[in-house]
Amino acid sequence: PETERVPPPEAGRCIVRVLVELPRHVGLHEALDYRCDRPLAPGTLVRVPLGRRVVTGLVEGMAEPTPACGQVVPPAEPERLRDVAEVFDALPPMTAGWMRLLDFAAAYYQRSRGELALSCLPTALRALDGVQLQRRLKKLARRADVAPEGATPQRPVLAPGQQQALQKLVEQAPSTFLLHGVTGSGKTEVYLREAQRVLEAGRQVLVLVPEINLTPQLEARFAARFPGRRLAVLHSGLTPPQRLQHWLAAHLGQADLVLGTRMAIFASLPRLGLIVVDEEHDPSYKQQEGARYSARDLAVYRGRQAGASVILGSATPSLESWLNAAPAAEGGGRYRRIDLPERIGGGALPAVRLVDLERVVAQHGRQALRLHPISPPLLAALRERLERGEQSMLLLNRRGYAPVLHCTSCGWKSACPHCSAWRVFHKVDRTLRCHHCGSGQRVPLACPECGDPDIQPMGRGTERLEEQLATLLPQARVVRIDGDTTRQSGSLESQLAQVHDGEVDVLVGTQMVAKGHDFRRMTLVAAVDADGALFSSDFRAPERLFALLMQAGGRAGRDAALAARSEMWVQTWHPAHPLFAALKGHDYIAFARSQLDERRIAAMPPFSAQALLRADASTQELAQAFLQRAEALAGELQAAGQVSAEVFLYPPVPTSVQRVADVERAQLLVEAPRRAQLQAFLAAWVPLLDDINRPPTRVIRWAVDVDPLSI
Ligand code: ADP
Ligand code: ZN
Ligand code: ZN
Repeated sequence: PETERVPPPEAGRCIVRVLVELPRHVGLHEALDYRCDRPLAPGTLVRVPLGRRVVTGLVEGMAEPTPACGQVVPPAEPERLRDVAEVFDALPPMTAGWMRLLDFAAAYYQRSRGELALSCLPTALRALDGVQLQRRLKKLARRADVAPEGATPQRPVLAPGQQQALQKLVEQAPSTFLLHGVTGSGKTEVYLREAQRVLEAGRQVLVLVPEINLTPQLEARFAARFPGRRLAVLHSGLTPPQRLQHWLAAHLGQADLVLGTRMAIFASLPRLGLIVVDEEHDPSYKQQEGARYSARDLAVYRGRQAGASVILGSATPSLESWLNAAPAAEGGGRYRRIDLPERIGGGALPAVRLVDLERVVAQHGRQALRLHPISPPLLAALRERLERGEQSMLLLNRRGYAPVLHCTSCGWKSACPHCSAWRVFHKVDRTLRCHHCGSGQRVPLACPECGDPDIQPMGRGTERLEEQLATLLPQARVVRIDGDTTRQSGSLESQLAQVHDGEVDVLVGTQMVAKGHDFRRMTLVAAVDADGALFSSDFRAPERLFALLMQAGGRAGRDAALAARSEMWVQTWHPAHPLFAALKGHDYIAFARSQLDERRIAAMPPFSAQALLRADASTQELAQAFLQRAEALAGELQAAGQVSAEVFLYPPVPTSVQRVADVERAQLLVEAPRRAQLQAFLAAWVPLLDDINRPPTRVIRWAVDVDPLSI
């Protein structure tokens, strides 16, 4: 009713509603009211008192009754409100488009807007007061004055496929495009050309890559192409002052190009004109803690809001994107598909060779497995490369020396006392380390159970593979790249430079080296132990394995002169598996079809929508009891007709690694035939979960993961 309206603001008596960082789920308390001497535009950054502190906040708007949870909430009484401490006038407000992105992301991923908004801003910005900010901005303005003109960049003549792709991008802009191009088909050149067009129209370009390791390479390519343009980068490897500087450059519109990892999707880009999501299928685009957002999916939303095209590029698109780009009659129609089926310069994709380990044993006897995972034929192929001065890559997705140590007499294994997992043996520093909780110990001299000194590594990791290579190919220069060798900043770059400079004969690595890198002298890529993923309980495992193998294979034969003799080897006990048949034909389309058929029949994503409710507690019973209460609550909502009865809740179960760092974890899977049903359900259900989290079933923490990538 009229009477509940706030009177129009008078000078000195405005009430502004401010988002502050209050870590709570969707609810009423995410925005607080403050008095201000003048109206403030939504998106303005302010400092406000909160308890005994003064914190940074984001103005949501002027206070007026808001319908939340079905009630109309009047603003608090003005006389009891506190004053805004400081207004960041020097900084333009966040745009309306950015505020909409925030609203959408918070609602979709079930987070409080205040918490999400503030976590999207650089921490260094949140630590500044107005005077410090002014100083920063002055510095930045001085830098902006010198942005340098460079030489005219070299641009290759476009291949016909690239030309057609660009034509579609121009004609159908703005839209969401799925650029499906095999590795080395020149996708990046397409991004560069479309970026140029958008930049010339005076708009900003955002480019996302899945891994921080890929940013230097991409940065170099964009910087070389656009020498006169200012480029900002946003990823977790920056120091807080660096991140602030880059963030401000984008926010103030001084940077025309922003490159970054998933967090960059929240960059402030007032003139956004294009978003590129490279390797869009990569699971790294999904944040795995806090607000569990998908930067890829948010990119699509953000592009639509901004009237900007979104290019999702991949050789092996996610099945979600593939379906979205299918004809409307087949359930798609949301994205436009553009194909680049050929490698630049007519280079062939590497021939795929399956090494049937069963046959290796039949031919060479059991002792051939002593060399495992380097089978005799693979060893011969490595020698050949070595003699020709070409490079090889061995892919093994497990770091450390061996995944577990065991005692040959009593069967003791190196279990982590805090987790339901083994501690991994790292030979370099003779430690056993848990990859889940990080705890570790020195390798014991004898079995802790029976005292037998004969404790042996079981299985293989990259460290052991490297050691094995040194014995089998003593003359080869071997370098290992994985999470252990790249801990120090700069080490990855220097290792990669060694590979590019031809100082390395064999590269051993985890999936880290499989992605994106443009190795020119590589003619052999071998996945030495890929079988684990074939029979995983995770329904996305085959999709991931296929993408990884295609990506890895894509590192071979990138130089057209070497393409003809480039090979991708896969050692397996299951050569007849249909996944390998598709891989041999480089046939992503056939693979996607068969996977989508399976998913359709089983009503799995993308033919249904899922969310996980996770609970961490001191005991498994407690974690599950909380989830059972949540389940019962959902049942009540359904019985009352408040949410769709088509939403299905699976019984609570322990997570795949059930205990981590002495905390028991359980999860409850929620599934709905359609996304909208799931969203409506979560909006009604999640805000109630705090209320049930109290004794006797109080858990340490709970979280909702919408569109989870592993269940
Ligand atoms: P993708 O991103 O699809 O893997 P890239 O864009 O990295 O492929 O291109 C592969 C290689 O081909 C790169 O070395 C790139 O410089 C080169 N390239 C791309 N387009 C052309 C072109 N039109 N003419 C010549 N070389 C090209
Ligand atoms: Zn023992
Ligand atoms: Zn552990």
